[in-house]
Amino acid sequence: MPGTLYLVATPIGNLADITHRALQVLKDVDLIACEDTRHTRKLLQHYGINTKTISYHEHNEQQRAAELIEQLKQGKDIAVVSDAGTPSISDPGFRLVRAAIENEVAVVPVPGPSALISALIAAGLPTDEFFFAGFLPARSHARRARLGQLRSVPGTLIFYEAPHRLATTLTDALEILGERDAVVARELTKLHEEIRRGRLSELAAHYAKDENARGEIVVLIDRNVIGEAITASQSVATLVDQYEQDGMDHRAALKKAARELRLSRAEAYRKLISERGGT
Ligand code: SAM
Repeated sequence: MPGTLYLVATPIGNLADITHRALQVLKDVDLIACEDTRHTRKLLQHYGINTKTISYHEHNEQQRAAELIEQLKQGKDIAVVSDAGTPSISDPGFRLVRAAIENEVAVVPVPGPSALISALIAAGLPTDEFFFAGFLPARSHARRARLGQLRSVPGTLIFYEAPHRLATTLTDALEILGERDAVVARELTKLHEEIRRGRLSELAAHYAKDENARGEIVVLIDRNVIGEAITASQSVATLVDQYEQDGMDHRAALKKAARELRLSRAEAYRKLISERGGT
């Protein structure tokens, strides 16, 4: 009989945020595959767990997945944990899950904390539909293009972000998505937990000045509220520039901007010329 692969969620800050079942599974399995064995050992020591650990991270994922599958096929039970939160969410795990499924090894989730869900439930933005977009690309052009793709998503947008890119991301989001409600959730469940709510422009201005915004961060942005984010007051030029940056030719960009602003093409063209200072 093959063993079982358990995906075990661990705390995102507060060590008490771990379930009874997670602790039991971590005690009972034959091996714990950890993103960082030293990091996880601190958690295991805290709870008096002596199970053997092995590293499983983005640099050895492919090769280690094959080895772990062999052990599972031999009947070993294995738990996967990441440094924090739920494995396989912007963390290693996915490859191993796919390999386990292909090899008919049972895959069992042991749910618990995840930064994106913790941030979403406290943000005060709609929770009925949301889109988790992971980390935005680090390079400006790619990041802005990605934001452009997400402009019409009909749900709360959720991103993971690094502190040194927070202000830039908020500024890019303002330019590309337009003014919206947004939330920055920082250091959740930790001593310096901060949940700051506001308009994108306010948050962008705040974090441009706040150099102490360190730690771990989730950014949430309200959906494109129909008739609000896209209104005739929004600049045709901004939209046209954005669509051209996304790769559209000028004609297609103007047509799309007109449609989104609910203007005729002739009206959009006149507005564009006047916004650019023409007559
Ligand atoms: N697998 C994890 C999960 O389920 O949340 C996420 C791993 S991802 C590599 C790490 C990112 O998650 C951080 O850069 C940050 O954006 C977010 N994050 C993790 N812990 C957090 C916390 N306590 N508060 C805010 N964001 C957090």
